[in-house]
Amino acid sequence: AYNMLTGIRFVVSRVNAKMDRPLTDADFTAKNKFSFDMLAENPRWVVDTMLTSDSTGNELTPSAKYDFKFKDYSPWVFRHLRRIFGLDPADYLMSLTSKYILSELGSPGKSGSFFYFSRDYKYIIKTIHRGEHKYLRKVLKIYHSHVSENPNTLISQFYGLHRVKTPFGRKIYFVVMNNLFPPHRDIHQTFDLKGSTIGRDYHEEDLAANPRATLKDLNWLRRNMHLELGPTKKQMFLEQLEKDVECLKKLGVMDYSLLLGIHDLNRGNKDDIRNSALKVFQPGIEHPSDASTSADGHPLVRTPSKLESARKARELRKIINKEVPVTLDQTANRLPEEAPMFKEAVFYRDDGGFRATHENDEPGDVVYYLGIIDCLTHYGMVKKVEHFWKGLKKPKDKISAIPPEGYGDRFLNFIRGVVKSPEEAAREKEQRERE
Ligand code: ATP
Ligand code: CA
Ligand code: CA
Repeated sequence: AYNMLTGIRFVVSRVNAKMDRPLTDADFTAKNKFSFDMLAENPRWVVDTMLTSDSTGNELTPSAKYDFKFKDYSPWVFRHLRRIFGLDPADYLMSLTSKYILSELGSPGKSGSFFYFSRDYKYIIKTIHRGEHKYLRKVLKIYHSHVSENPNTLISQFYGLHRVKTPFGRKIYFVVMNNLFPPHRDIHQTFDLKGSTIGRDYHEEDLAANPRATLKDLNWLRRNMHLELGPTKKQMFLEQLEKDVECLKKLGVMDYSLLLGIHDLNRGNKDDIRNSALKVFQPGIEHPSDASTSADGHPLVRTPSKLESARKARELRKIINKEVPVTLDQTANRLPEEAPMFKEAVFYRDDGGFRATHENDEPGDVVYYLGIIDCLTHYGMVKKVEHFWKGLKKPKDKISAIPPEGYGDRFLNFIRGVVKSPEEAAREKEQRERE
């Protein structure tokens, strides 16, 4: 995690130190490699193409002389994306480096991806598979143009795509993205909705032990819930969702879901505010930033020892101060035309979320935190195989792995149901019966 942050810090400062310019086609395929030699007296970096010697003219033998290598993909494209999403460059760097230790959360999903939070919980780093990484690069242009035309998109906001490589040659790809859930609000209920009903059930019996578990499609249906948005917000939401699903079909991906967190204003924040975001991920962790083991003794959050932290902090300061030709103050003094282009997306404007609204457009009692996550699964070989095997036993249109067109339609259909008010549902039913 430390290497990830050091790398991000370095490459983001580097690209943001330059004068802004329009994107070119080459920006979408660009990649830069850096080697970080953190153990030397003066930590230094070298651009890989110049790896034969460092600034003092010493020979650098890569395998012996570096701590880790860092690869940065399409830095200019992500710089522009961050701006479209309204991120302030200085804030972004601060979030990812102030107190630089991230909370590591293991892998909540089945995919084996690891999740890390920035210290302020604004950002999530998710490790991704090589295939997902390759796919994101391939479709980056489509993603970028969708986001440019739809700054209010509900699709995950990607802020960076990078890779770290250990001296042993292990390559870890990761993305930086928005944390949909707020650091300062308890999330009382969480749903991960795909529109598929097979296997989409969290065992209700386990809920007592895990009250904050992420529930799924069948749990939603069983509770007979709906998103209360009122006519105006509902239309806004559905219009954006339709555009987003259209884009996801074009990207050829499936298996994504609508992540929905509900904060009940009447219940407020009863729990430790700082940890609310974590509890959604790993129900049952009470003090994740202090504890290093869970009740069953498994390490959950790796917190470096004080000594180790101090050493890392010193090194990081050296890198930031000496090697990177930009400081936070300089980024803060950025040119006026670089000021965020858009305000926060409409769906994240009410205290980081989207407030419920009654049918009469009066404000409701809950705030929804929502977005479309896990959007990098290409309907490739793996999913085709899964579809084949599962399809032998189960109806083919109900299992989760179906081609992007069908997946998108089914998803959209399900979410249309999710926002339908009971009155509307009753009206439709009546009409069907009349017909
Ligand atoms: P799988 O492929 O098995 O579904 P995955 O490893 O790809 O899992 P995701 O589906 O991306 O993981 O996410 C797993 C869980 O992590 C989600 O259900 C949600 O609780 C949490 N999560 C993921 N992305 C975000 C986000 N942007 N903001 C808040 N929580 C998130
Ligand atoms: Ca998922
Ligand atoms: Ca996944």
